[in-house]
Amino acid sequence: MSDPVLRLSGIEKRYNPGKPNEVAVLRGADLEVARGEVVALVAPSGAGKSTLLHIAGLLDTADAGEVAIAGEALSGKSDRRRTILRRQEVGFVYQFHHLLPEFTALENIVLPQRANGVAPKEADERARALLRSVGVEARAEHRPAALSGGEQQRVAFCRAMANAPKLLLADEPTGNLDPGTSDTVFEALMRLVHETGLSAVIATHNLELAGRMDRQVRLEEGRLVAV
Ligand code: ADP
Repeated sequence: MSDPVLRLSGIEKRYNPGKPNEVAVLRGADLEVARGEVVALVAPSGAGKSTLLHIAGLLDTADAGEVAIAGEALSGKSDRRRTILRRQEVGFVYQFHHLLPEFTALENIVLPQRANGVAPKEADERARALLRSVGVEARAEHRPAALSGGEQQRVAFCRAMANAPKLLLADEPTGNLDPGTSDTVFEALMRLVHETGLSAVIATHNLELAGRMDRQVRLEEGRLVAV
């Protein structure tokens, strides 16, 4: 079998070590995500979902354990290598869109590609194709402030996919939207993920949305258990 797109082995993370307010958030978390698999990460607020996603996405480091992305183990690798791998192989979506306010929807998807060395015309075409696939191509020239919450989030998905990563990590991506909008936006995300054959870990406390993913894992006392 080919390498999993993401492998977490024995991940440990504590905040404020040795201090009275020390919290051991992750205590040996293990996870393997296969190519094309969409995994729901469910747990109540404060359980450590964001911490886990940040470690998996190389935005933070674990105290112990190993992260491997597309078969490449990251421990002992330079910051430069981690940054390159993060930029090329990982897409992130947060609860809030974090689009750049002074740029249009299209430009927000073009910029990360340009930073990755993609030619302007190609970056533009890819950005438009992504916007089309989530149904917001008519909003390409609008700035984020002129978009609805659901549109902003769909543009944020496109930006996360701009450099065709292998792994998408999403932290409560529809948590800020009303239930009706959340449903359509979630469907757009799932379609985009399945069309591109991407692997994804999507944190949510919405059990109905979690049930629509391929598999669910729950964070329980710092470890991941199958639901
Ligand atoms: P979730 O995403 O499931 O809500 P988080 O990963 O954000 O959980 O947080 C897990 C726990 O770690 C919480 O108790 C939170 O207060 C604590 N925590 C998160 N980040 C920090 C930090 N930078 N410093 C100290 N404690 C933190």
